[in-house]
Amino acid sequence: MKLFDVYPLFDIEPSGAQGSWLWDKAGTRYLDLYGGHAVISIGHSHPHYVKQLTGQAARIGFYSNSVKISLQEELAEKLGELSGYSGYSLFLCNSGAEANENALKLASFHNGRKKIIAFSGAFHGRTSLAVAATDDSAISAPVNGTGNVLFLSFNDGQALEAHMDESVCAVIVEGIQGVAGVRVASEGFLKTIRSVCDQWGAMMILDEVQSGYGRSGRFFAHQYAGAQPDLITVAKGMGNGFPVGGVLISPRFQARQGMLGTTFGGNHLACAAGIAVLDVIREEGLVQRALETGSYIMDQVKRLEGVREVRGRGLMIGIELEFACAALRKRLLFEERIFTGSASDKNTIRILPALNIKREEADIFLHAFNKVLKSQKQTA
Ligand code: PLP
Repeated sequence: MKLFDVYPLFDIEPSGAQGSWLWDKAGTRYLDLYGGHAVISIGHSHPHYVKQLTGQAARIGFYSNSVKISLQEELAEKLGELSGYSGYSLFLCNSGAEANENALKLASFHNGRKKIIAFSGAFHGRTSLAVAATDDSAISAPVNGTGNVLFLSFNDGQALEAHMDESVCAVIVEGIQGVAGVRVASEGFLKTIRSVCDQWGAMMILDEVQSGYGRSGRFFAHQYAGAQPDLITVAKGMGNGFPVGGVLISPRFQARQGMLGTTFGGNHLACAAGIAVLDVIREEGLVQRALETGSYIMDQVKRLEGVREVRGRGLMIGIELEFACAALRKRLLFEERIFTGSASDKNTIRILPALNIKREEADIFLHAFNKVLKSQKQTA
């Protein structure tokens, strides 16, 4: 059987990784400024993570949600404490799309409504409701067209106020839009979403799948605005590569047995990975480190000629060039051996490294980026 060919691939096969580095079988090393798409939060193969995960695999790796799994409670307890949402409840699932799918369902179960408001540039995943709330017709199949989703302009509070009424079930927004090219939801916009949701009885859903888990320099990107959502979705950095996602649910929601469910969500291994990640984030002060290293990178990059705009917070950084960045990213990868990310905006490079990337490693990137930018600018 061959693989269903849906991914454009680089001809590179990592065979090992440690911290912010990957290497292939020939021993060629690559610096990881992409984190496998914002997934690597505490660094590749962190010793504490490896120990916890292998130890758990040797004891018990999986049993279904028909039995007590106290690791889930430990994970919820630690997540509540570190994120500042200890009064919320946690539903565990397996991916970002699934987290958003469940959050949207919960909102609809809660107020009995159907209409969802999402925003231009939004990416919420590829499952049915999540993709319906994603602003990309190329990844939406005819069956995904529900007619229940209204897209409004991102960061436009007035448009939102004008379109809210008692039919709106939920407003879903990313703390920082990732796929769109790192576009920060303004503090005023998030506050407006909170107030109009309160006014009309709609649920505010914060998609922190990419911007959460310390990446922005706060545990959640929306915490800069001080507006508390009703539902917060998480995945990516939560498991440092182990597939795990979750929904943080405000106390206003009433659980009913059987209302949500999953076979794999919250299994022993996923919980062990999630707990190890939270332990390392706390012990190594990674939220603060993301803020400091991110500010350093952004300050340095802003000074470079050929850079039009630098957006983001912490270690979620979008560097918009004056020209399309594909060739430059390719040179960074194949000449300088540095992974970076792309965005739907062809001029923007995404920088999403592990939260504990070292200053010296950031300098290696900055030096290489400057070098490639200078020569690429001449050919652009
Ligand atoms: N939400 C956001 C903001 C994302 O960036 C992504 C993935 O890139 C998702 C949801 C979907 O997550 P997953 O690919 O784990 O389903």
